[in-house]
Amino acid sequence: MRLIIEARLADEGSDTVHDVDGALAVIERRDCSLADLGLTLAEGRSLLAKVQAELVSKQVEEWLSGQTHFRCCGAALSHKDSRSTVLRTVYGKVTVKSPRLWSCACQRNARTPRCVVHPLSKALTNRATPEPEYLQAKWASHLPYRQATAMLKEVLPLDKGISFNGTRDRIRTIGKQLDADI
Ligand SMILES: [Zn+2]
Repeated sequence: MRLIIEARLADEGSDTVHDVDGALAVIERRDCSLADLGLTLAEGRSLLAKVQAELVSKQVEEWLSGQTHFRCCGAALSHKDSRSTVLRTVYGKVTVKSPRLWSCACQRNARTPRCVVHPLSKALTNRATPEPEYLQAKWASHLPYRQATAMLKEVLPLDKGISFNGTRDRIRTIGKQLDADI
């Protein structure tokens, strides 16, 4: 048998549903057998990574569609170009398209020429959701950095999203913040 997992997208308050292209996962098992019972860790990680990529891309796309006008005067901002931005999440890295816009004409004067606005970078300054950093700090305080990193990679789809050096740097940053607070 094959279990085919697909995603559908519906706008808030609307009954219209759109199919997301392609299946998120196809899980194959031999008929009448319990030899491979349930999802494996690898299948679970892969499924979570795909759901996360889909959700993050759609949320970013929708949020960006509300950033095309300057909030003070309502004028449309002209598009300069687009960059790829990598966002770190607890279920892996997600690459999204992030447009750069020209600042509004009403903001320009002799002293301030027109400049480039990068809405996504401004909104997500550290390009990460809080959970990967929380888990990294939590487990690196219980285990050696290398083991904490390996454990998180084993259960979460974080192949390239977490590293020994990243974990050590994160703990050092938190240590400095705690020292500063004290
Ligand atoms: Zn304006």
